[in-house]
Amino acid sequence: MSLIVQKYGGTSVGSIERIQAVALKVKQRRDQGDAVVVVVSAMSGETDRLLGLAKAIQSQPAPRELDVLLATGEQVTIALLSMALQAIGCPARSYTGAQVQIRTDSAHNKARIRDIDDARIHADLNAGRVVVVAGFQGIDEHGNITTLGRGGSDTSAVAMAAALEADECQIYTDVDGVYTTDPRIEPKARKLDRITFEEMLEMASLGSKVLQIRAVEFAGKHQVPLRVLSSFEEGEGTLISLEEEIVEDAKIAGIAFAKDEAKLTVLGVPDHPGVAHKILGPVSDANIEVDMIIQNIGADACSTDFTFTVHRNDYAKAMEILRQTAESLAAREVHGDQEIVKISLVGVGMRSHAGIASRMFEALAQVGINIRMISTSEIKISVVIDEKYLELGVRALHEAFDLSKPA
Ligand code: ADP
Ligand code: ASP
Ligand code: MG
Repeated sequence: MSLIVQKYGGTSVGSIERIQAVALKVKQRRDQGDAVVVVVSAMSGETDRLLGLAKAIQSQPAPRELDVLLATGEQVTIALLSMALQAIGCPARSYTGAQVQIRTDSAHNKARIRDIDDARIHADLNAGRVVVVAGFQGIDEHGNITTLGRGGSDTSAVAMAAALEADECQIYTDVDGVYTTDPRIEPKARKLDRITFEEMLEMASLGSKVLQIRAVEFAGKHQVPLRVLSSFEEGEGTLISLEEEIVEDAKIAGIAFAKDEAKLTVLGVPDHPGVAHKILGPVSDANIEVDMIIQNIGADACSTDFTFTVHRNDYAKAMEILRQTAESLAAREVHGDQEIVKISLVGVGMRSHAGIASRMFEALAQVGINIRMISTSEIKISVVIDEKYLELGVRALHEAFDLSKPA
């Protein structure tokens, strides 16, 4: 007998019929003699709908109240799934994050899980029940409801699997695994049988929303065997595995992209020590995360030009701060661009293969795409390009690195 944690995302529980189909799948697993804990998301579109309601009252609703509201989405699905299981003769019980005691810190809207009290879950499993737990939510030490950030049910599932020392954490979604890139952008994308934690973590942080970043982080840290599968069709899905176990010698695992980037530039800043700090200090003081940074010698050699990127949601605020800084530094000019995207190549094989960057730049040049910024690390290369070239760029790179063919 094994203990399995299964997570079903929004589309997988998007209607009564789909919830019933999930119930059948869960029951099947339990009937094989396994203990099953199910973590569910809200029905697709529900979290956005609730957010919309809140924003109709206040553009910046109080984070605590927003969590009370958003957590209701998952409460609906746990109850419905338990009913669907009971209706087909499978004993089941639903729990909210607060009932299980998924304890988090108090960072509303982006809380981190600290620990999970597994006593109640074990008691139910021992009694032969399927346990259905609300994803995306927890409770802080003061009894406040918290949520874990968009896509957070993935993290709930992984944390649950770690706490229960489950044999596998299965993330059921609307694709049958992790692909070389988002199949919605490149239909020729290929499903990977395996990907390393390190690569998956880069893919997730660089924009592939198939798994929440924290879920991958958590699974890597606690060595939780993690698999992404389709809730609609049978298959092995993609196993996220430790590097040693990977047999393929692929240079590139995949291509990630982030559409929600924005770029800010200040030109003609007097080139003194401390300038970078003067420009970026106030931005980070405002809690705005900066991604890429480029500093160049200005045209006259005694001034400097400075460009950085932020999340598009932070653009207006960052621009306001930068204008003030530019004025105090007597900089020549400030401008910004919100119509940019970041495309990244990811692969542990880059460590041992030279020439990947130049091949990437050549492929983009061949289709006439101008690169605005570049940044590299050991296992990724990212470029910023104009938003209108996103699909063209992803497809050109997919082709250039032959990603449709198995490595
Ligand atoms: P869920 O609601 O089940 O959590 P998500 O929408 O969060 O599902 O994640 C699944 C989606 O992730 C897919 O429909 C796909 O469009 C997108 N996606 C982005 N990058 C990838 C990738 N590399 N492989 C597979 N899916 C990807
Ligand atoms: N319902 C939440 C969201 O839409 C959490 C999740 O689905 O993982 O972001
Ligand atoms: Mg998701």
